[in-house]
Amino acid sequence: MRSYNTGIVYSDEKCIGCNKCIAACSVLGANCAIIQNGQNRVVVDSRKCVICGSCVSVCPQKARTYRDDSESFFTGAAQSQNISVIIDQSFFVLYKDRARSVLGWLRSLGVKNIYSSSLGAEISVWANVRYLLAHHEEDEAPFLVNCCPAFTLRVEREEIDFLKKLIPVHSPAFCTAIYAKKYLGDTSRMVFISPCVAVKDLISRHKGTIDASVSFDSIITRFNEAKYSGTESDPDQTGRTFGNIISAEDGMARCLALFFPEKYIIAHYNNLSPHTFSVLRNETQNCSLSERPLASTVVSCRNGCLDGPGTKKFRSTVSSICIEYFRMFTDSMKDLDIEASHKRNLEMLEKQFAALDCADFTCSFQDHYQQPYRIPKSTYDEIFTAMHKNTVKKRSVNCGFCGYRSCMEMASAIAYGYNRKENCIHYMNEEMAFRYFIDPQTGIPNRAAFVRDAELLLKSNPAKKYVVCSGNVNKFKIIDDLYGFEAGDKVLHIVSVVLKYTVGSEGLCASLGGGNFALFFEYTPENMARLTKREFIDCSVLGIAFRVTMRFGLYVAQDRSESIMNMMNYATISMDKNSSPMENTFTMYTQEFHDQMKLETMITADMQGAMERQEFKLFFQPQYNPAGTLVGAEVLCRWIKDDGFIRTPDVFIPIFEKNGFIKKLDRYVWEKSFQAIQRWHSAGIKVVPISLNISRITLKDDDIISFISDLHKNYSLPPHTVHFEITESAYMNDQKRLIGRVNGIRNLGYAIAMDDFGSGYSSLNTLKDVPIDILKLDMGFLRESENTERGGTIINSVVRMAQDLKLMTIAEGVETQNQADFLCSIGCDVLQGFLYSRPVSQAEFERIIGFSK
Ligand code: C2E
Ligand code: CA
Ligand code: CA
Repeated sequence: MRSYNTGIVYSDEKCIGCNKCIAACSVLGANCAIIQNGQNRVVVDSRKCVICGSCVSVCPQKARTYRDDSESFFTGAAQSQNISVIIDQSFFVLYKDRARSVLGWLRSLGVKNIYSSSLGAEISVWANVRYLLAHHEEDEAPFLVNCCPAFTLRVEREEIDFLKKLIPVHSPAFCTAIYAKKYLGDTSRMVFISPCVAVKDLISRHKGTIDASVSFDSIITRFNEAKYSGTESDPDQTGRTFGNIISAEDGMARCLALFFPEKYIIAHYNNLSPHTFSVLRNETQNCSLSERPLASTVVSCRNGCLDGPGTKKFRSTVSSICIEYFRMFTDSMKDLDIEASHKRNLEMLEKQFAALDCADFTCSFQDHYQQPYRIPKSTYDEIFTAMHKNTVKKRSVNCGFCGYRSCMEMASAIAYGYNRKENCIHYMNEEMAFRYFIDPQTGIPNRAAFVRDAELLLKSNPAKKYVVCSGNVNKFKIIDDLYGFEAGDKVLHIVSVVLKYTVGSEGLCASLGGGNFALFFEYTPENMARLTKREFIDCSVLGIAFRVTMRFGLYVAQDRSESIMNMMNYATISMDKNSSPMENTFTMYTQEFHDQMKLETMITADMQGAMERQEFKLFFQPQYNPAGTLVGAEVLCRWIKDDGFIRTPDVFIPIFEKNGFIKKLDRYVWEKSFQAIQRWHSAGIKVVPISLNISRITLKDDDIISFISDLHKNYSLPPHTVHFEITESAYMNDQKRLIGRVNGIRNLGYAIAMDDFGSGYSSLNTLKDVPIDILKLDMGFLRESENTERGGTIINSVVRMAQDLKLMTIAEGVETQNQADFLCSIGCDVLQGFLYSRPVSQAEFERIIGFSK
């Protein structure tokens, strides 16, 4: 990128890449948008730049600057080199008050001769007039006048078809130099002091005419620093007449017009825009001379040389300067007979320069044209696609924020490599939206896009029934762990492709991250079949040995007022109800499920407060022996709300087991029970054994033994007054630990009852290995066996087996006298059930045991 900055105009470190220079530049590709040290910048490509200086003028950061020869000029002057200066005529207008002082100061520096460019301006006009006279009858017209270096350079580089139209006459400054050297015999180094920046390029191409260029700004800065207060001075040579207005924007055109009949137009344009060139091109194509100008002048700076990039702008005074010029023009014309015909003017001009050889002031132009590489349509397509410009409309926004006039120009700039798509504000917007709506891992829409599109589908298809589906890859983290994150990403990619195919072109598929996907499609049997017929996601190409399966939850969008997020939630909640490592599972969200979820949420939110408010109450269900004597009671918990509403344990216990709160509740119930038993015991009551339930969740807790032994120590109850009930399901997979826990409790002296015996697990096996004392027969078992011979036989043999193992048997859920009679006949030890008593409040139970009346 450094190669860009070898030219005359360049960006310094203040550049922030605001694109204003790109917009001001007339040449596509002269400004290159780059990133330097992480910062946006626009640098100048000197191979394309025509040094018009527009970018210097428009840069709000003052980051565009230029190179001139001021250093060598001032060093040369200090070394007493032989130096003469040509000073642009505009200097006297711009720096009116200081101009003569500056000239005095220049002389004090040792400058030999000072020429005003107005001198050469008159010579240049003379040579141009001669050329036009010689050619004006030809079909060649209109001609272009070489008066602005930026314009000439632009023709040489970009608008090559105008090259032959350029009048081969030097500009005023060069004519001045040629005259000084050849006709006045000035051999000193010739330095041009001007508001122009392009001159520096011009002098390097016409070596030996002008030797160096220094800008007005450089001179004025040094002059101000010098605080010069010496004598003032005037130029040694100036133009005599019209040369004094040559620096005004249309000065050259006005001067040339003086020498031709009125029917010949000398047109003027300022600005190097494509528009100017299309006007010029149009002029060229008009056939009759009367319909086109004889010649045209074009300058790049808005107010001609008064506005050159090498001078501070005096915008506020531009109008006063123009008035000044008008006055000067009138003054200058005093000597010319304006009223008289152009012929008289011409005669005077010829007389003025009779001693000069016109050929001395001619010049030639060079062809620097470089055929631009033609960008193929496919490249444009590629670039536009990368910029998310996928419609004709988007490709022709032409907002100009990038600096270019059209999206096509911007795309060309990107193709040539001198701009970046990131400089297009619309691309950045689209990209942000893209990133906002696309999941980077899978490249498919994300949650935000899903919600947006699903809402749209619902809205625009009021008659259709849709289903929201939430899917998760089973054990996705394991895939990551076993095969690496890269393989995990690939799995997600395959899943996304499969699911996209499943929902079809009408449906939506989104990736929510972490192996979660969301689908939305019309609820039709065909669509459902396409989803549910897929048994697993085939990832064998990735070398994954096991079947990748997913669990899906589905929610049919019945109520359209429900938000998509809620629908997704319902689907997700039901998703986890089923899963299988062997095949995809599909679980539909139902109303019961909905109610259950609501209840769970409510209970979970309420439970801690309930415990603090002591809403959990102990109920006792008495147990009797066949003779009808009270031999024990089971503690069953009730949640009694402030308003008297009773929640039964079959509602809240499973929820507490899910959320873990059961561990707290069990400890709470035990402690309350121990307290009660201690009170009864202290009151001299012969306490029957009280059975306390241990949830399977609590039994897994490592510190439960220490908690029970603390109770044991703190309350020192006779151990026979407390039994603990466990369920065999607690340790299905780890019997050793179950045995350890059971022994821990038994060692404290408390008997262990196996609750719900026969409820479905490998009951008999457990019985063999786990050291229990009491067997509680599941009531369901009893109910089912009532009318069948077989059930009776089973109970009979279970009780017999328990007797053999010296286990006490308790039958729970005894509801009828028939059941009771049967249980007694087979030797069941204890009976518990509604036939005898429902679970009763603590106060009621205390009355039963005679603790209170
Ligand atoms: P469970 O431990 O099997 O308790 C016996 C359940 O059977 C009690 O239900 C009781 O009211 C009920 N029951 C008693 N006799 C009959 C009968 O003749 N017919 C019928 N149909 N049912 C009868 P409850 O109190 O609703 O408790 C349900 C379950 O909640 C209990 O089953 C137990 O697993 C659990 N639970 C209750 N309180 C606690 C507690 O404080 N801690 C723990 N961990 N679990 C408890
Ligand atoms: Ca129980
Ligand atoms: Ca039970």
